[in-house]
Amino acid sequence: MDVQRLPERLESGTSSTPEAVIALDPEAGGEANALSPGRRIFTCRNLRFDQISQVGFDMDYTLAPYVKRNIEELSFRLTAERLVKAHGYPEEVLTIEYDPRFVVRGLAVDKRLGNLLKMNGHNYVGRAYHGRRPLSKEERIELYRNQKIRLNTPRYYWLDTLFALPEAILYAGVIDLYENQLGIKKVAYAKLFEDIRESIDACHRDGSLKAIVKADLGRYIAVDPALPPTLHKLRSAGKRLFVLTNSMWDYTNAVMSFLLDGKLAEYPGWLNYFDVVIVGAGKPEFFTENREFRRVNLESGLAVDHPVNRLEPRGVYQGGSIRRFDKLSPGEGGDRVLYVGDHIYGDIIRSKKDSLWRTALILEELESELGLPDEIQRAQLDLVALEEHREHLDDETTNLKLRLNQVEQAMDDHGDPARQEELSRMKRQLRLSLDRKRRDLKAVIARREELTQQIDQAYNPYWGSVFKEGSELSRFGEQVEDYACLYTSRVSNFLSYSPSQYFRSPRHWMAHEKA
Ligand code: IMP
Ligand code: MG
Repeated sequence: MDVQRLPERLESGTSSTPEAVIALDPEAGGEANALSPGRRIFTCRNLRFDQISQVGFDMDYTLAPYVKRNIEELSFRLTAERLVKAHGYPEEVLTIEYDPRFVVRGLAVDKRLGNLLKMNGHNYVGRAYHGRRPLSKEERIELYRNQKIRLNTPRYYWLDTLFALPEAILYAGVIDLYENQLGIKKVAYAKLFEDIRESIDACHRDGSLKAIVKADLGRYIAVDPALPPTLHKLRSAGKRLFVLTNSMWDYTNAVMSFLLDGKLAEYPGWLNYFDVVIVGAGKPEFFTENREFRRVNLESGLAVDHPVNRLEPRGVYQGGSIRRFDKLSPGEGGDRVLYVGDHIYGDIIRSKKDSLWRTALILEELESELGLPDEIQRAQLDLVALEEHREHLDDETTNLKLRLNQVEQAMDDHGDPARQEELSRMKRQLRLSLDRKRRDLKAVIARREELTQQIDQAYNPYWGSVFKEGSELSRFGEQVEDYACLYTSRVSNFLSYSPSQYFRSPRHWMAHEKA
């Protein structure tokens, strides 16, 4: 099985039959899988799996990976239609092409200026587009150099979930349409973003998007044959499993049935895999507020009025909060829970900030980013070597300049002709060396630029790697490191690890230690 080609397959599933199947060996489970880099589980904070008694899963994009291209294009189209019908935007909006590569997770929208930004971990803007036009370095510096990007202010919108990508693609597309094709110069960028936000939000809430998905689940949801055995393995190891999703019962039931019903003889229906199912959880407030659970009537899909004092085996509940959950799971809450989710803010940051729950982040981007061709991996190694070489050259150049200064100073101080002669010979030599080093440095910088472009192109032609910006972590990469205890590309990667695995984080080096 070639896991490196997976994302391509996920994106190209265009018909309902056959199902869009994640191309996995159904018998998967050996260590071999764990060894392919894109399928490993990575550790930011040590975690002893044998001390985890409950494993909770988010549903959308976690237990249920979407066929990204199909779901995004659908959201994009429905949002564009609503923009025209409900907000009075021109019909031309419907002709904007959906370009799936134009936006990646972790970017920020600057609603005031109509820009998309990629930042490093210090919130320094490393790349930016206005509509679909890249901003030059000078423009970027002028607009963003002297201010700190505060993502929690109304000016910015952080794209930290895969559900948010289509709206940013549309935002850039409409700005491009207005300014470059319709010749409109005064675009109300903030209003445009709010209208797009309202439209996509409405498509999620009014059921229009979900009705289409439910009518053709095979087109929109990718089936991972290794998911049922993964859940089975965790249960067999004595872990309690639960689902914690913002989706409501009706949709959760449809999607989970599609993924799990009839897959393993031991489990007659999907609910048999889980001890508790929580729908309509309202994350992130689930982590911050103290709300009661209500039982869901599986016929009507509605929550029963009165709050519950127990979470019954195989019960389905709505709402609730982490505080109530931990209280109702005596001895098995807090840091004995591992919660697996895909949303960096709603699932991971919030649960990490507000509770003791351990976290695992699902990042499907890992499979494409770690599956790049050999030549790109070689280019990355070359780049690392080149950067070290550049550091040496920088040091040597500084050193030579210092010595040149000293010699010039000495020439000013000494009148003795023999000494002057000797000093001017030294000066000539130092100048020659300095010129040579400067030429080397220039060549290294040019080569570095070439390699960086080649590598970025392979990740994403517009934005490069999701996790890096230049030689530093991107804002998104930094958040992953800060908040996720573990991260991996998909839930079924747990199949290759022992339920008593000790996940150890790699040793962290500070700059001075490397010296
Ligand atoms: P989860 O990932 O299982 O917690 O659930 C994600 C749910 O949030 C799905 O039902 C999505 O349809 C829904 N969702 C995603 N984006 C939006 C939005 O912008 N507005 C409202 N619901 C959303
Ligand atoms: Mg999710």
